Amino acid sequence: MSPFHVPVERLEGVGSERARLLKRLGIDTIGDLLFHFPHRYEDRSQLMSLGHLADGQVGTCWGIVVGVQVLRPRPNLSILKVLLDDGTGQAYALWFNQAYLKSTFSVGSKLLVFGRVSLGPWEKTITVEDFEKLSSAEELTQGPKIVPVYPLTKGLSKRVMRRLARKAVTDFAHRIPDTLPTLIKDHYKLPGTGEALRQVHCPENIQEAERARKTLAYEELLLWQLRLYGERLKWHQGKGIAHLAKGPLTVRYLRQLPFTLTKAQKKVLLEIYNDMAKDTPMSRLLQGDVGSGKTVIAVLALLRSVENGYQGALMVPTEILAEQHYLKISGQLAELGVKTALLTSNLDREERENIRSGLLQGTIKIVVGTHALIQDEVQFANLGLVVIDEQHRFGVSQRAALVTKGHKKPDLLIMTATPIPRTLALTFYGDLDYSVIDELPPGRLPVVTRYVPEKQRHKAYEFIKGQLERGHQAYIVCPLVEDSEKIEAEAAIAMYNELRKGAFAPFRVGLVYGRMPSQEKERAMEEFRLGHIDVLVATTVVEVGVDVPNANIILINGCERFGLAQLHQLRGRVGRGNTKAFCLLMGRLKSKEAKARIKAMLQQGDGFALAEEDLKLRGPGDFFGVRQHGMPQFKAADLLRDQQILLLAQKDARRIANNRDKPEFARLFELAQQRYADFLP
Ligand code: ADP
Ligand code: MG
Repeated sequence: MSPFHVPVERLEGVGSERARLLKRLGIDTIGDLLFHFPHRYEDRSQLMSLGHLADGQVGTCWGIVVGVQVLRPRPNLSILKVLLDDGTGQAYALWFNQAYLKSTFSVGSKLLVFGRVSLGPWEKTITVEDFEKLSSAEELTQGPKIVPVYPLTKGLSKRVMRRLARKAVTDFAHRIPDTLPTLIKDHYKLPGTGEALRQVHCPENIQEAERARKTLAYEELLLWQLRLYGERLKWHQGKGIAHLAKGPLTVRYLRQLPFTLTKAQKKVLLEIYNDMAKDTPMSRLLQGDVGSGKTVIAVLALLRSVENGYQGALMVPTEILAEQHYLKISGQLAELGVKTALLTSNLDREERENIRSGLLQGTIKIVVGTHALIQDEVQFANLGLVVIDEQHRFGVSQRAALVTKGHKKPDLLIMTATPIPRTLALTFYGDLDYSVIDELPPGRLPVVTRYVPEKQRHKAYEFIKGQLERGHQAYIVCPLVEDSEKIEAEAAIAMYNELRKGAFAPFRVGLVYGRMPSQEKERAMEEFRLGHIDVLVATTVVEVGVDVPNANIILINGCERFGLAQLHQLRGRVGRGNTKAFCLLMGRLKSKEAKARIKAMLQQGDGFALAEEDLKLRGPGDFFGVRQHGMPQFKAADLLRDQQILLLAQKDARRIANNRDKPEFARLFELAQQRYADFLP
């Protein structure tokens, strides 16, 4: 039986209590235990000796406890000092604010500590990050030289975890079937899966452990890429629409634009048109920083569909955005004789009926909408292109739902406003072709970004007033309230009233927040657009897409609560015209992470660079607001470090999938579809 079907209780040394603890770590089966990897290793063949410590050195050493004391230099600070002796010298192991550990150590016991060395004028210390009591000194000389350290849970000690992992390897690793066909293993000289697992848990040396981890990472990423590629093959089956005609609509639309397309816009437009002309359905991702001009591209793609006799749909994540796109597009398109409609959930029955029948009969050529578009009753006469302004907010199933609304398979264009590094784009969107607008329209000035401490709020208001007096407009963003729309609404209203009656009394102040009735929301946005409102107090509903070029200053309250992606999106609301624009970040920077985020915002205007920064700060799991649903949790692969492996896996996946006439490749391909069946790009 596969170890993935053997409950972990069946392992020697695991009773019901330990099984319960292991469950907390997500370990139900012995297979899970084998794939519970160490997060680091202790190299006991390279112990530091206490007589020869170097300042700043990080490593492991051992010693016999010769003294234990707790100091309390300040009310909020305790220092536990344990003096160790290993025969070559002595040093103090230090724990901060963990005085409760004191009883753990008794004079004469043996201790292994891992930490950072600091050489002071009169004493050597090691600030302990991790420690372990040894039963005997022989444990050091006779045990394994490379000791894995596992992620733990309370009640499960390092030593027990280690023993269980080792036992699982001895008894079960050989029963794990090889993932890779011999051909590939031989080609890269890789160990089998079971052997790689053994090397990860019980390595001879660090290099072996790392090589084994990389092998398993490659297996994982290869399967994932095969899964993505499988999805792509499925999409490309079935006939799509060849948008061959190059009609007058796109030409006339281009002519009436008040600007010419940037080189980058022209390039991606060509890529999109090429795809659309083929009769394999398009599935393309369009990336571009905030303000790079994706909307024009979307409209030009939609028009290509219309001039070929089809309909187009543009799906966006918020009502405000749907409305704004609609207002902008419908005017321009009416002049071209193209009928456009707006479909959101706040239409009355009659309006909705009209739009529905217009779509069904094909009189409405382009529809802009929110989730309302994917409701069952909405049917199209002949849908040719779906554009999704994703902003990471639509799930997979929603995407699929819209796309199945055509008789033939429509082309699909997904736009993301959040730039992600190319390698990550590959992991998340590997099933899609990739276009990027890597240039902003000319004349854009970088947004001047400043951090303003709370106590200078008054000054910030004065500065904003100065801008208003010059005829500009401002956004004032309320602090983020994650969990309660009600509290968020109340806070927004309170701020609105305060500013309206106080600091900005001489000006026209408006308000929008998520929960506001749609009509009021629309009215406020409309007035802001028309310049009838000077200051718009808003929640993050204005985060995406809102485009009012005359607004040149944004104040973000409680900036420490926002992620980098959100801050960058919010800042993108200004600097859309050709006047100097400002972003004031206000808040209390207590945590290290908040400080790092704000620092990145001050230093970087470029979304791609910020994305890289965010990746480093948060790691890929929680990265830049990227959709996490639909993504598997990788066990061995580290998306930050394994980009080379990822590229290799993608290349190989395509070759393997395209050579499925070979039975071993077919088997691997099928395995990937099954392994990640529940995950969808
Ligand atoms: P995005 O959706 O990528 O954030 P938009 O499509 O909203 O950006 O474009 C931002 C602003 O730049 C809009 O006001 C748009 O009209 C304008 N714009 C787009 N392309 C160009 C261009 N090539 N030259 C000048 N302005 C442009
Ligand atoms: Mg946009």
